[in-house]
Amino acid sequence: MQPRDLSDHVAYEAGRGIEEVARELECDPSELVKLASNENPHGPSPAATVALREAASSVSSYPKAAHADLTAAVADRWGVDDAQVWLANGGDGAIDYLHRAMLEPDDTVLVPTPGFAYYGMSARFHHGDVAEYALERAADFEQTAETVLESYDGERIVWVTSPHNPTGSTMPLAEIERLAAETADETLVVVDEAYGEFADRESAVALIEGRDGFDARDDVAVLRTFSKAYGLAGVRLGYAVVPDAWADAYTRVNTPFAASELACRAGLAAVDDDEHVERTVETALESRASMREEIDAHVWDSEGNFVLVAVGDASAVAEEMQERGVIVRDCSSFGLPGCVRITCGTDEETERAVETLNAVLDDLE
Ligand code: PMP
Repeated sequence: MQPRDLSDHVAYEAGRGIEEVARELECDPSELVKLASNENPHGPSPAATVALREAASSVSSYPKAAHADLTAAVADRWGVDDAQVWLANGGDGAIDYLHRAMLEPDDTVLVPTPGFAYYGMSARFHHGDVAEYALERAADFEQTAETVLESYDGERIVWVTSPHNPTGSTMPLAEIERLAAETADETLVVVDEAYGEFADRESAVALIEGRDGFDARDDVAVLRTFSKAYGLAGVRLGYAVVPDAWADAYTRVNTPFAASELACRAGLAAVDDDEHVERTVETALESRASMREEIDAHVWDSEGNFVLVAVGDASAVAEEMQERGVIVRDCSSFGLPGCVRITCGTDEETERAVETLNAVLDDLE
């Protein structure tokens, strides 16, 4: 007995965990700095930590009330109806739900390259095909409607990542509006704002709701996560904001109790902790600025909590940095074998990353 033919499906390559690297290097994890997965250097909101402890005693029940409460809190935050918020097991889960809701067999999704691998993986799970648009063609990975439209051929979903992982570039709302307007009525533009809190940009929810001078659209959806600015990557919590015309689709496509009691309780506490998010964003901005200024290699302007650095041989540089205790992301798996991506850290972490990278670049020259 075998699973179905999965030879077309590639496995998701997550960044290596700090424990795993510490075992390999035979050192204590506290000696290492991990800036490879765009996690929050300040951890979760303290309010979320308290909520998680308190929620521990209620995990014998299904999370019906917590799910509804968090949905309402998120809807309130965006000024949308509860039915427009699709909670999920991380942003990844929300990607799956959008594909489940949209894709007929053999429909195609259009994804950016370089880009986040899970869009394509998920589309394939849902019997879809994948086409790509190339961001490298634009200087500095600039994102305009044109960048996408050059490759667009009537796909069912167009994925836009803004800020984009791993480049940090964004697509202005007016360009997203133009993209949505110039693609077919049956094409949904999904704007993945996993790193939205770190950008100096309005959310594309404005396009769904018709705010800030935009007309309301029913062909745009937005993806958000609690994994980055909220520091809750480990609880797995994210969501999509969808057009209001889709009111009942979620109940038909979601996995029952799409987010756990622990995730919902942590999310409820975190969503109101603006102070923690502000502190996190401030740290990211400082770290981004220092890395741009102090790294002896080209660092792209980024609106995420990470920067992309041109290092030559990314695998060699990432490996050597790891040997010296700093874990960064080799972007070969994103299709950028000449670049590493470094997550924004605290002052000390940033300093160590900069020093280590500069020394490695010097030594490998
Ligand atoms: N979108 C982008 C662009 C990402 O980089 C990530 C995580 N690396 C996600 C979505 C999904 O994150 P999560 O499932 O942790 O919410």
